[in-house]
Amino acid sequence: MKIIVGGGIAGLWLALEYQARGVPCIVLEQGALGQGQTLASQGMIHGGTKYALDGVLSQAATVIGAMPNRWLDALAGRGMVDLRGVRVHRTTQLLWSTDSLKSQLVGFFASKAMASRLQRIQPDEEPGFGDAGFQGLLYRLNEPVIDVSSCLSVMAAQLTGCLFQAKVHALRWQGQRVIGVDTEHGYIEGDTVILTAGEGTEALLAKTPAQGIRMQRRPLAMVAVRLGQPTAPIFGHYIGFGSKPKLTVSTHSTETSQTLYLGGQLAEDGLDCSDAEQCQRALEALRQGLGWRSLAIEALSVIRIARAEPATGQGHRPETAGVFHRDGLVVAWPTKLALAPALADAVLAAASGDDRPDSKPTWPTPAIGRYPWQ
Ligand SMILES: Cc1cc2nc3c(=O)[nH]c(=O)nc-3n(C[C@H](O)[C@H](O)[C@H](O)COP(=O)(O)OP(=O)(O)OC[C@H]3O[C@@H](n4cnc5c(N)ncnc54)[C@H](O)[C@@H]3O)c2cc1C
Repeated sequence: MKIIVGGGIAGLWLALEYQARGVPCIVLEQGALGQGQTLASQGMIHGGTKYALDGVLSQAATVIGAMPNRWLDALAGRGMVDLRGVRVHRTTQLLWSTDSLKSQLVGFFASKAMASRLQRIQPDEEPGFGDAGFQGLLYRLNEPVIDVSSCLSVMAAQLTGCLFQAKVHALRWQGQRVIGVDTEHGYIEGDTVILTAGEGTEALLAKTPAQGIRMQRRPLAMVAVRLGQPTAPIFGHYIGFGSKPKLTVSTHSTETSQTLYLGGQLAEDGLDCSDAEQCQRALEALRQGLGWRSLAIEALSVIRIARAEPATGQGHRPETAGVFHRDGLVVAWPTKLALAPALADAVLAAASGDDRPDSKPTWPTPAIGRYPWQ
């Protein structure tokens, strides 16, 4: 039996892949499913366009380029993982620049490099762009945006009997080989232990002889903006004149409220700011990137969370999912929500077969987590 530690997107996608192949597996989650980075993400299934804004199709853009279609297949019920029923916010993301010359150039180069994925559109083709003074360039990217919570629900419903709420305290070793895990409910044995525990993987590795597998954190200071009156939902990237989106916006509506969730350069650069300063920066970014819209802002809050990834040496963004394999142990970080299928492919290549009998525990089932801005 495969023991997967961590019930975020990486662990759940992998569990579905194993289940589809008849390989017994369990997922151990210390709290609620998705409560780490997964529910804090913006749900954007990137295909790499945002890494090509300087006109160069980097290796990262090439590797990640296959992911939107992989997800679209899953969302349509084609392939090993069936995500029919997941709410898709949009099948495309937006990329827009305001009317400065530099921004227009960035838009032009991005479109040249990524012509098959990027389509220039007129502002009046998008609600909230054409009707009120937007002056810049607007593109649609063939990259979907999903409702992450509904994705977790659809996945969990298919994994009944495989999901357990249990904090893993330590890996159990026999010589150089991992043979199981010690949890708050007791010990359980498996033929392979797969760590998809995000930030939690670091503590589990610290207590082991698995030398040389290291992770890095890249923190973000995201901003949630609660609106008193709804605006036309926005999912996409406002580009300034750098090679990264200045502002990445996703929109989350409930029956009673609407929240704009802001990331991009705003979140990367605001780490040393106080919450009050970061909220001010967010207002300025909204003025620059969505200035033509009148937003009924009620409240702003800062959500600080780190991305947990394989260490790259200098702390740069890893090009793709990181998967490391030792005897009986696999350690994996997807790096992006979008790359969960690529992570599963690599883990399956490293640890697929299992001839031991299935011995599932009788521990509690984890709930689905909540969005951090709720
Ligand atoms: C603010 C933000 C926005 C992002 N937006 C996007 C985006 O729009 N698109 C995109 O592609 N990527 C995005 N990402 C990246 C993406 O969210 C992550 O790469 C992905 O969610 C990581 O998934 P994971 O399953 O590896 O980790 P996590 O979601 O962190 O899951 C790890 C799980 O392991 C559990 N765990 C930890 N320790 C233990 C233990 N000892 N025992 C049992 N369980 C344990 C945790 O409780 C957690 O639920 C974003 C990331 C952040 C932080």
